[in-house]
Amino acid sequence: MKIICVGRNYAAHARELGNEVPEDPILFMKPPSALLVNDKPLYYPEFTKDLHYEGEIVLRICKNGKYVDPEFAAGYYTEIAFGFDFTARDLQAECKKKGRPWEIAKGFDNSAALSQFIPLDSLANPDQITFRTMLNGKVVQEGNTRDLIFSFERVISYASRYFKIQTGDLIFTGTPSGVGPVQIGDILEGYIEDRKMIRCEIR
Ligand code: MG
Repeated sequence: MKIICVGRNYAAHARELGNEVPEDPILFMKPPSALLVNDKPLYYPEFTKDLHYEGEIVLRICKNGKYVDPEFAAGYYTEIAFGFDFTARDLQAECKKKGRPWEIAKGFDNSAALSQFIPLDSLANPDQITFRTMLNGKVVQEGNTRDLIFSFERVISYASRYFKIQTGDLIFTGTPSGVGPVQIGDILEGYIEDRKMIRCEIR
């Protein structure tokens, strides 16, 4: 199982970090050891002083594929979840500045918090999925998948050119604007439509 993540998939978020809107999806990966499930808390890592949440819609791949045509990519996932792509923003900035890979800033242990999955067909409008992140009871991110720069289908197709996608793989599809830091004691919650999907305490 692998965890493929998309960077900068909502224009407003790309702008808030001072980045250009990309021409192709920006992909990176997290190892399976990054997974944090069952609403377990995240222990603030000692190697960062600027831990950020990024609330995202996550797809679970349901069949194997290589060079998947965008036209058929919708057949490769049937369920979605809410995830937090935790990021050590200070380390990421340093990696970017030095032209180094991002893994230590993005793929560390428990950096991929994941809710349970819900079937795509349980949603009223799967083309316009609304989701939001709440921090200590206050809405900090509101997204709608109609604002994706690269659709789920485009991401699956693009990723499968380089990495064969396999049943059980996860795709973190990118975060909308409103990312920010967390402190020890904070409570993060993620919603898809009006369903509370995930809770994560920072300890
Ligand atoms: Mg992200």
